Amino acid sequence: MTNQEFFDKGPATKLDNTMRTEFHNCNRRRYWSGRGYTYKYSPTYFTAGTTWHEFQEKYYLNTGKLTHKDRMINAIAAAEIIYETKIGSGEPNKNDSWDNLRNLMIIYANFYPQESWTMISGETGWIWPLDHTHWYGGSLDGYIEWPQLGLLAIENKSTGSWLSANYLNQWAHAPQITGIIWGLSKVIGEDIFGCMMNMANKTISGPKSKRTTSQFMRRLERRSPAQLEEFEQDVLHTFKLIEMEYDKGPDKWTWHKTVNPIECVGGPGRTVCLFENICNLPVPFTEIEPLDFSHITLRTTEWTPWERTGGQE
Ligand code: SF4
Repeated sequence: MTNQEFFDKGPATKLDNTMRTEFHNCNRRRYWSGRGYTYKYSPTYFTAGTTWHEFQEKYYLNTGKLTHKDRMINAIAAAEIIYETKIGSGEPNKNDSWDNLRNLMIIYANFYPQESWTMISGETGWIWPLDHTHWYGGSLDGYIEWPQLGLLAIENKSTGSWLSANYLNQWAHAPQITGIIWGLSKVIGEDIFGCMMNMANKTISGPKSKRTTSQFMRRLERRSPAQLEEFEQDVLHTFKLIEMEYDKGPDKWTWHKTVNPIECVGGPGRTVCLFENICNLPVPFTEIEPLDFSHITLRTTEWTPWERTGGQE
């Protein structure tokens, strides 16, 4: 999409957490993504994450239908198909290799052979109005019924980070999780208990390792009605900031760059920005053609995570 076409389309009326986070982390990156530019080859941790989600969904949706062993075998086989389909030609790091992920799945299945809850649905896209013209949506990994608690969303995280206190505590502050609780409550039509964070560290340590954090952790996240109301106002504020950019017009807009260079070059827990080597070109940004760079391509479909159902990217 050209600069003018992006302007003519008008400001977003639908947002998900990815778009919103991207806008706040760096307006300019949202500009490029909004015009449709994306990775030609997905980073291997994306593939590892999608593979892990597939394993989780198949493992739990077959509860009661297959033996524990067959559930595990079936889920690993489904995950391998996803991995082989999506992995590019590059060499994945050890954590994101198929051998490591398969071993992690076996350890996980033996760690959690049965649960106190039942998975009602795997990946579920959803979208809901904030007011007459603005919508917020996304895709949640699934939702579960826990007899003593009621309905919860489930969010599966596979990470190279240690499951430290800071890693666990971040979810209490994550708008992604607030949005999931808000969205599922709206779609179901009743308050849900919250969201279960189901976290896995991808590093498998040897028997002599001195690691001090767990391989797997769970944590229940809850939000009060006041926090959910505040979330709605926060998202509406993001819409307003985007609309202010459009008010300037396509010749005057700036989509200002981040003030945090780690967003550009990467750092702990952050990958290098896709647009890192085009952002410093000595010409106005609206005159740059990202497709001149071999690692960038155009999305073939619009980013609409709210339309996803189980197993889709
Ligand atoms: S390189 Fe930096 S300024 Fe440019 S889009 Fe990426 S994060 Fe933003």
